[in-house]
Order: sequence, then C-alpha cells, then structure tokens
Amino acid sequence: MPGRAFLAGLPLLAAVLAATWLGLQPPSPLPSSAPVGDFSAGRALSQLRRVLEAAGEGVPHPAGSEANGRVRDRVVALFREIGIEPRVVTTTTCNRYLTCTPVGNVVARVAGRGRGPAVLVSAHHDSVPAGPGAADDASGVAIVLEMARVLRAEPAAADVIFLVDDAEESGLGGAEAFLADPAAHEVGAVVNLEARGTGGPSLLFETTGSGALVARRLSEGSRRPVGSSLLSTVYRLLPNDTNLTVLQRLGVPGANLAFIEGAVRYHTPRDDLDHLDPRSVQHQGENALALVRALAEPATGPAGEAVWFDLLGRWVVRFPEGWALPLSLAALLLAFAAAAGDVRRGRTGLARIALGAVALPLGVGVSAVLGFGAGRALGLDSVLRPWVANPGPLVAAFLLAGVAGGLLPAALLGGRAGPSGLRAGLRVGLAAAAVALAATLPGASYLLLAPSLVAGVGGILARRAGDLGDGIADVATMVAAGLVLLPPAWLLYPALGHAAGPAVAAAVALVALPLAPLAAGMPVRARAIAVGIPGAVGAAALVAALLLPVADADAPERLVVYFHQEGTKARILASSDLGRLPPEVRAAAPFSTAAEVRLGWGTLRPSFEAQAAPLLAPGPEAEPREVSRAGETVRWSARIRSPRGAGEIQVAVPPEVDILAFRADGIQVPSPVPKLARWYGGWWVYRLASGPGGVEVEITARAPGPFEVVIADQTPGLPPAAAGVASARPPWVVTQQEGDVTLFTRRVRIEADERSPR
Ligand SMILES: [Zn+2]
Repeated sequence: MPGRAFLAGLPLLAAVLAATWLGLQPPSPLPSSAPVGDFSAGRALSQLRRVLEAAGEGVPHPAGSEANGRVRDRVVALFREIGIEPRVVTTTTCNRYLTCTPVGNVVARVAGRGRGPAVLVSAHHDSVPAGPGAADDASGVAIVLEMARVLRAEPAAADVIFLVDDAEESGLGGAEAFLADPAAHEVGAVVNLEARGTGGPSLLFETTGSGALVARRLSEGSRRPVGSSLLSTVYRLLPNDTNLTVLQRLGVPGANLAFIEGAVRYHTPRDDLDHLDPRSVQHQGENALALVRALAEPATGPAGEAVWFDLLGRWVVRFPEGWALPLSLAALLLAFAAAAGDVRRGRTGLARIALGAVALPLGVGVSAVLGFGAGRALGLDSVLRPWVANPGPLVAAFLLAGVAGGLLPAALLGGRAGPSGLRAGLRVGLAAAAVALAATLPGASYLLLAPSLVAGVGGILARRAGDLGDGIADVATMVAAGLVLLPPAWLLYPALGHAAGPAVAAAVALVALPLAPLAAGMPVRARAIAVGIPGAVGAAALVAALLLPVADADAPERLVVYFHQEGTKARILASSDLGRLPPEVRAAAPFSTAAEVRLGWGTLRPSFEAQAAPLLAPGPEAEPREVSRAGETVRWSARIRSPRGAGEIQVAVPPEVDILAFRADGIQVPSPVPKLARWYGGWWVYRLASGPGGVEVEITARAPGPFEVVIADQTPGLPPAAAGVASARPPWVVTQQEGDVTLFTRRVRIEADERSPR
C-alpha cells in the first residue's frame, strides 16, 4: 500500500512541477487590432520600435548623450500623437551614487473620472552606454505610451501621471529630480516598470508603503498576478535599486513590476528588439494597467504588511503579516497532537519520532550540498558570470538533486524510524521550521506554513483512516509544498544564476520530503532505487550541462575594452566575465596573462593588459583656485577640464580622506549610499558631466596630512589603437554596462598650509 501511494505521488509531483511552470508563462501578446480598451503588446511594440529608431539602430542612449535627446524628443512626439501634451523638465542633479548628470524628464498626465490622488507610473528612457536598452527600459516607455492611450479612451477613477525619466542608469537622477516637481505632491500611489532581462513573467517583486494594500489591488485588478511577499522580502536584502528606491520617499503605496529572464543580456548590446519577448510586454502592460485602475479607486484598503503569493499565476492568497506566527504555532500544535495520537495507538514511539525529525535537516542539507556542488562544477564566478547559454540541463540537475535529497531520508532512516515515525518527525520538524521562519522573515513564512498546516490537519483527519488516510495526507502535503515552493524555485535561476543551486535543490527537497514516509514503507531495494534514479538522472543532466558551451551569440560572453593613459604611459585593458580572452582578441594586442589590473582606484578583475602607443592628447587638468587647511580640515577647489573635450570628469578620493562636503559647479553632492564604498575598494569616485569649460570642484575634507586624488576624463568608445581589440570580438562576445571607454587619469597632490590666523 505505501509503495503504491508513493508511486501515485510521483506523477503528481511532476504535475505540480509542470503546473507551477505554466503559471509563470506570460500570456500571448494581443495584436494591434485588439479592442481600444485593451492593452496590446502589438501596439506597444510598434511604439517601442519608434522610440529606438530615434536613437538609431542598436544605438545606446545614456543620459547626456545626443541619442538620449533624440529619444526624449520622440517620446514627447508620441505622447502628442495620442493627444497628450507632456512637459519636459530639464535640470542637473547630483545623486547619492556621486554622479552629477543633466536630466531630461518627460511628465504627462491623463485626466481621470474623479478627483482623488493621482497614480504615478514611472519608466526610464535612458539606457546604459553598452546597449540599446530595448527591454531596460524602452519596454517600460512603450508600455507607458500604450497605457496612456487606453486611459484616454477609458479613464481611470483618478488622474494618472506618467513619468518617463532620465538618468536612471546614472544613479536614479531623473527620479530624484521628480521629487522636486509640483506634481509629486498629488501622487497617491506609484507603479514602476523595469526589466532586468528580456523575457519571463512580469513579477510584482517589490511593494512599498502598504504591502497589504498593493497585494489586494493586484488581486482585484489582475487576471494573471505573479508575485509574492517573498520576492519583496528577498529584494530588500539585495543591493539593487530602481526608480522606486527614490520614489518611495513620496510615502505612498508603491508597486515595482519587472521581468527577469534572459538576464545574461541585461545591460549588453543584446538587450535588443530581437531578444525582447512580446509576451513579457503584454504581461507587464496588462498588470500595470490593472494595478493603476485598482489603485486609482477611492476606496481605502488595508494598511500594513501582508503575507501574500500568487497561486499558479491565477489567484492571490493573502493574510495580515501578524497572522504568520499564530498560524505556524497552530501547525506545530497539530503536529504534536497527531504524533501523540500515533504514540497512544502504538503506531510509533518517541525514539522513532526523534529519528524522523532528522529527516528534514538531512534531506534539505544533502540537497543543498548537491545543488551547491552542481553549480560550482561549472567553475564560473557567481558575480561576474552567473548565467550559462543553455541552462536547461543545469536547472534539471538542481531539481533532481532536490528530489533525490528529499527522498534520501526514506532510504537512510526509513528502516529504523518506520513510516509513522518518519511522518510524525517530519511534521514536527516542518512546523518548527515554519515557526522560526514566521518569527524571522514573515514575508517568506508562507513557504513552510502552507505545507505544515496541510500536514498537521491531514495528520488529525487521517487518524481513523489508516494507511490510505496517511497516503492521502502525505500527497496533499506534497502538493501544498509544491504550489508555494516551486514558483520561487523556478525563478531562482533567472534571478541568481548558478549560485541558486543550493536554494533550488533545498526548495525541491521540501516538496519531495512528504513522500519520504510513503517510500519508507517499501522494501530496502525499492527505497534505494527511489533515491538512485533521480540521483543518476541528475548526474547525467549535470554532465550535459558541463558539455554545453557557456556562451553563444544570444547569451554572450561579456568583455569590456578600455584604453587608459596616464602621462605618456598608455595601455589597453580587457575585462572578461569568463576570465579568458578569445584567441581573436588575444591576437589583436600583446596581452599579458595578468588576472588583476589596478586602475588608480580599485581593480579590474579578471583582466588583461597590453602596452599601447600613447595618444598625443593631454590628460585632464586641474587649475587650483583655493587650497587651505584649518587643523585637520582641508579645503580644495579647482576647475577641472578635459583638453580633449571629454563629456565626463571623474574625481577619485582615497579611502583615508574623510569627505565633509563636495560641490560640483556649486551643486552639493549628497552623501553616498553606503554600498558604494565596496565598488571601488573604499575610494569615493565622483562622476561629473562636463561642458567645454570643465567643472568647478570644491572639496572640504578631513585629512591629517597631504594626500593625492586621481582626476580622470572619460569618453565612450576607443581610439584606433584599441578599436582593433574591440572589433576582434567574435559574435558571442560583447561589451556590457558602461561599454568600451577611453580614460585619461592624472594624480593631483593636495598639500595645504595651515591657514594664517586672522
Ligand atoms: Zn532599468
């Protein structure tokens, strides 16, 4: 009987796996002929094409560039075409990433039916210097335009303000500038549109203000909600930022939507129209429109945080965060009661239950170790190169590691603990873990709460139903675990890459574990086979993953080329995410085998260096205006200019100098976000947009003695000496982020005399 129940559970496990995967598939795009009141990806994509055409085929349009201005003008023209007159707000902002850039925001408004607080929808029109940004974030801009068209035809309950901002990629400059806009005071809720990849479902991955309210509005409005309080909880632990990081300072409820599959193309030239999945645009647009309509309604909603998640991409389950701990304690009581009943009726004993309680840490622990090993077997850096070109076999290896690890306790403990001891121990262990999770990360609590409640209730109900009742309870627990744990397991690889192996395998182990008591009822040989088959297939999948190429033209290797000159010393640097140089590139210049290169501040890793003939152009120049000292406080001001006309000036201040104030052209630069210290080994690097006359810089700092700053000027692209290296890249190797750049540096010693007493 237990054997048959176990064998019946396996296809059900596969079915839950398939159903959760299907729940994460974005919907088919609606054609341009869709009814006027519907969001159509067909129409949005034709707007997207016209936005990108303004920059030029494949041309990046970062803040401050000429292409950026053309894109902004095109966005204005496209708003006008649908009968909306937008405002263009231009200014210069300095942000907490120590970047000062010109900003050109486009702000538009569509009137609503009523007079309640407006809903703000934001997306950014700038791209990184390395790529055209079709997904990030031209898709957001196109979705805004299509939403504006729909909302003019069928208005929402309140006004909707559209912010198509600039300089998001240069430190959230456009969003900072919007906070000073008069329209900011009218905002009652924010929806931000992002893309950290080129496909996949649109996730509501972050809520701000009241999570309970945003989750409720999503469930009221969306036909295909995907998201959870887990994603929001995890996102808050990560160092990432979007427009909403700044806009949440408005103090109103906020929703952050993004798709994240194909992240290997994010911030590269492959974030282009060919790789953008129209289904993701449809999903993101539909959900954004649904959220905006629901958030515009005047009704008040719940305050505070909620525990919430989507069920198969169709429904939203939610409850107040305060319920998580009492519910998990109730599950623990049920588990104890069921165990006590089993002991009373002589089905098992305390020693066997104690042995069964080892099953959870054993199954999860072994799975995590196997998942870790599978991820590490690739030999790739988890930060520089998280993703491979063909992830299917690798993800299969992670999943199967979880199945094998989850069933392992049946083989190792099943004989001595027996099915009933294993089951009772597992229930108590699961509920105890649910209590711990509810107490520490309530947003993630539902992951263990759902299966432990089903297991506890099942344990009580199955008391009089014998083996059949136990079998049904175990399979129901597995299904409950699968419905909540498998969606995040599917999203972990797109989110984190191969480093997600331990977490994916551990999540799957928690889904497979409820079947272990059923497997424990089978003969020893059958138990070994139940663990051995997924283990062997998983190992075969890993071998396949190791044999496949890591990169291809659609999931390229990323290699950035720099030309760096200081004085008369010039060099070409190449920094690769795979720590290697393709032979074509290596042949293009006399490269060293160096693995780390110092760049004045911080290091480039892993990288390669080749000497080059210096250019005749001089480096940046600093004309000092004032230098003085009062005790340990030094004031230094200078005009820094680039004789070669670079549009960006950089000032890097070493870690031992404590900066009290920094002004660029009279604008105070705010104090940096703390994580910035990690980016350049403790150096503070100021990046300042510069006109032909240069930038007036004023530093007030605490420094006991003289010190040296590095000034730099940077231009996109490479001189002929290095361009050959960049063009030697084969089709499966591309630049990324900032793109290939030319950088001149100069060291400036700041030696101040004590200010003469007055
Ligand atoms: Zn973006």
